Amino acid sequence: MKFWLHTYGCQMNVRDSEAMESLLLGAGHQKALSESDADLVIINSCTVRQKAEDKALGKAGYLLSTGKKVGIAGCAVARLGDDIFKKLPRLDFAVKPGEFTKIKYLASSNDPLAEHPPTDAFSAFVTVMTGCNNFCSYCIVPKVRGPEKSRPFDDIVQEVEHLASTGIKEVTLLGQSVLKYPNFPQLLRRLQQIDKLKRIRFTSAHPGGCTDELLKAYNECDKVCRHIHLPVQSGSNKILSQMGRRYTREQYLEAIAKLRAFDDTFAITTDVIVGYPGETEEDFEETRSLMNEALFDNSFIFKYSPRPGTRSAELADDVTNEEKQRRNAVLLDDQEKRGLARNLALVGSVREVLVEGESKRNKTRLSGRDSGNRIVIWPKCENLPEKGSFVNVKILDAHAQTLFGELA
Ligand code: SAH
Ligand code: SF4
Repeated sequence: MKFWLHTYGCQMNVRDSEAMESLLLGAGHQKALSESDADLVIINSCTVRQKAEDKALGKAGYLLSTGKKVGIAGCAVARLGDDIFKKLPRLDFAVKPGEFTKIKYLASSNDPLAEHPPTDAFSAFVTVMTGCNNFCSYCIVPKVRGPEKSRPFDDIVQEVEHLASTGIKEVTLLGQSVLKYPNFPQLLRRLQQIDKLKRIRFTSAHPGGCTDELLKAYNECDKVCRHIHLPVQSGSNKILSQMGRRYTREQYLEAIAKLRAFDDTFAITTDVIVGYPGETEEDFEETRSLMNEALFDNSFIFKYSPRPGTRSAELADDVTNEEKQRRNAVLLDDQEKRGLARNLALVGSVREVLVEGESKRNKTRLSGRDSGNRIVIWPKCENLPEKGSFVNVKILDAHAQTLFGELA
């Protein structure tokens, strides 16, 4: 069968899709050239917000109406259970995140993630933890992805060593709260020793794990990228406490001040929820001011969406959609200005960039990322650097989300 995989949601899903692709190829199926060329389309779904779930199910519904075989994988399946077949009666199959090996109708292996390496040439996701035990009041993830489980240290090291031996230069360690991995700084130190590996990233990080031990590991390990995605969710202590985040505004700001003191080009990105139940104008302004103090390099703003079965879904969703939209727009606008100022400060400096390939918008340019995960664009020149190699780029100009330069 010719299959096509369509992935929604977080990097965990991207990683699961890679593993599913590998399983299907191993079972003798072929990758279609496009969605329309496929006999079977698998939608790897997200359910973290209602909008994300609706998008995935809507896509499946549309594809079913064209007569294709359609399967759904991922978190919406875990949330809806068999009800997914009520919503999409003609659906061919549905598999939950923990059971995706069923996709090729074979007995599940003990460690599907290790056995099915990704296919990308120079950068790879590596799962270090699955599930989540934090139960933030608004979040469906612990329910759909199950309890937190750490993969054995040696398995992770072996997997990364293997990836590096096949030409992978950069790994991103994945988990909902990777800093909770037992002795995470030690894992970074061990991976730092892998010769052919050049960059180590990780996501997501819970602010509680931003310890002096972690800073020490940054200091010792130059391969660990100077970027952290540290979702803050809110700047109001009242809302943070109701969310069950277990840190205060002050503790959060203290943690990132340490990172910035260590290296002032350190990139810090975040997630924020606007319109949580009971979020007043004052609470919102506290979020706004925290974001300005934190000087985030980038941020993802989400409008609160109640997820049935979570604690906050019991509360009245009392901020109107228009007001959520307004708060969302205000924070995006702030971020645009802040991101631009942060990036302009890098004009004149030289950034080491991992080459990703042609820029999508302009084929006469190349695109890559610096250690801070910033997108860097520069003109092609005669000796075309290979995808996956490193070049030094002198920064000449900047937008809020992109740096522009020339080979140094
Ligand atoms: N484990 C990660 C977050 C995973 S979910 C962490 O804790 O850092 C990704 C983001 O989706 C969250 O950071 C949050 O900002 C957003 N999110 C989660 N549930 C949401 C909901 N019910 N409504 C709106 N946004 C939500
Ligand atoms: Fe959800 Fe909180 Fe776990 Fe992140 S840490 S996945 S927000 S419960």
